[in-house]
Amino acid sequence: MKLWVTPKGDRWLCDECQKQYEKAIEQEGWRVAFEKWEPMLRCSACGYGDVEISD
Ligand SMILES: [Zn+2]
Repeated sequence: MKLWVTPKGDRWLCDECQKQYEKAIEQEGWRVAFEKWEPMLRCSACGYGDVEISD
């Protein structure tokens, strides 16, 4: 999960939701404050935490 610094405040976004915000990230100049692998964190967009994907 990455903590994004946005004009409306900091928000956590998972990688999936990050794709949906690409335009805002670019246009509004969001930047990543830091990245943290923490299962308790919840994405502010979808409400889910990081899911480990393995195949
Ligand atoms: Zn999400």
